[in-house]
Amino acid sequence: MTTSGESVFRGVVKYVFIRASSALSKSGLPGLDYALNPYVGCYHKCSYCYARSYCRFEEPRTHWGDVIYIKKNIVDLLKSEVKRVRSGSVGLSTITDPYQPIEALTRLVRKSLEVLLRAGFKVVIQTKSPLVLRDLDILVPYKNLVEVGFTITSVDDSVLRGVEVRAPPPSARIRALVRVRDSGLTTWVFFGPIIPGLNDDLSTIEGVVEVARETNSTLYYDWLRYKEELRGFFGVIGLSPEKYVRGRDFVNWRRSVEELLVKVCREKGVVCVPAFSD
Ligand code: SF4
Repeated sequence: MTTSGESVFRGVVKYVFIRASSALSKSGLPGLDYALNPYVGCYHKCSYCYARSYCRFEEPRTHWGDVIYIKKNIVDLLKSEVKRVRSGSVGLSTITDPYQPIEALTRLVRKSLEVLLRAGFKVVIQTKSPLVLRDLDILVPYKNLVEVGFTITSVDDSVLRGVEVRAPPPSARIRALVRVRDSGLTTWVFFGPIIPGLNDDLSTIEGVVEVARETNSTLYYDWLRYKEELRGFFGVIGLSPEKYVRGRDFVNWRRSVEELLVKVCREKGVVCVPAFSD
């Protein structure tokens, strides 16, 4: 590790320590009152990730996955904010993965969870990383206030290898999901994004739904979304953004995949919900 002022390099990834002005932000996401994002940018560097388009810092937005800002004062801010704001549900994290590798060192998520849960806030965690298992000791005693969701885009590690560039493989996520469920916490599966030609086939759908069934998890699903920052990725997978966003073919594609997914969920007794209403 080499340092330069408030920056640290670990391999090719540059970490920059910043001071935030607030910890909790209002969330417009369903079921969430607040969002807590200790990091700006995400090491996992998924090619389909549109979180970058909500990033107001240019460096992590334009070098997504290779530059990550760390809000070093977020726990102190949070300690003061939980005394002032109305209690509610907090999403960790809404525009980054809370359990990206640097969290193993900084422990900002762990410390934030302790503050939130002791203050009576509900926490909703979404991750692709088994690192969440580290925090079961503080989550389990508050099981009525905790939900943990894992993004499972396929049960076959090879399907999105190279797309979910640095994320732990689905098999590791599934093993971690089982352990979280076995600890007694409420779990859910996020099947998304569903991408034309990559993970929209019956075998993939059946595999992901089966994981939800085995872990008694609700399954939320969502589609590949287009933002200008993803034009290159669309090119790589051979999709025209214009046709994808406005074309009739993709309206029909979405409808037929959704029908198939709902049918498989019904057959397996899995509760299946669109992640977003649009
Ligand atoms: S893990 Fe989530 S936030 Fe991180 S790059 Fe992938 S999609 Fe984006």
